[in-house]
Amino acid sequence: MIAIALARPSRYHSAPMKSEILLDQLDPVRFALKERDTAGGIELSSLKRLSELLHSTDGLVEARFSFSREGKKIAIRGDMKAQLKLVCHRCGGPVDFSVEGQVAVSPVTTEADEPELPEGLEPVLMVDREISLWQVVEDEILLALPPIHRHEQGECGDLISFTCDANKTPVKNERESTSDNPFAILKSLRSED
Ligand SMILES: [Zn+2]
Repeated sequence: MIAIALARPSRYHSAPMKSEILLDQLDPVRFALKERDTAGGIELSSLKRLSELLHSTDGLVEARFSFSREGKKIAIRGDMKAQLKLVCHRCGGPVDFSVEGQVAVSPVTTEADEPELPEGLEPVLMVDREISLWQVVEDEILLALPPIHRHEQGECGDLISFTCDANKTPVKNERESTSDNPFAILKSLRSED
C-alpha cells in the first residue's frame, strides 16, 4: 500500500489578521470628491494574468489606495505588496519572490486625455464612470516581475535532471574485411609427369 500524505500548510506565518477584499470596480470621481481611502486584499487566484505565471496561487496581494483631486484631475495613489511563488526557469520549482510597488494613476476616458495628466500620474482607463482597482494592482505587479526568475545557483530542486545518455553504445565498425581475389586460383595442380 502507498500512503500519500498531503502536507497542506494551513496557516500563513505572517498574516495575523484577515484582510477585507479590496474593492474592485468603483467610481473614482465619487471617491475623490470624498477623499476616500480604501484598503484590502485580492486573492492571487483572482488575478488571471498573474496566476498564469505563478507556481502557486495561494495568498493575497495587500493593497491600499487614496483618492484626491489634483487641479481638474483625479489622483489615485496606492501601494501594494505580495509574496509570490514564481516558477523557476531552470527546474520548474517554486521561487519565493516579494513584490512591493507604488502606483499613481488618474482616470481617463480616452487616450486624448493622457497628455493633460499631471506629472507623475499614469492613465487608467475609466469605463462607464468606473475603474478596476484590481486591474491597476495586477498591472503594477506584472511590471515589477523580473523577466527571468530562478533559484540561486545550486538551490534548484531535482524536478528535472539533465542526464546524458550513459548507455550510449559506441558505433561498431562493421566493415568486413573480405578480400577476395578476383582471379581464380588454379587449385588443381596437375603434376604431369
Ligand atoms: Zn530552480
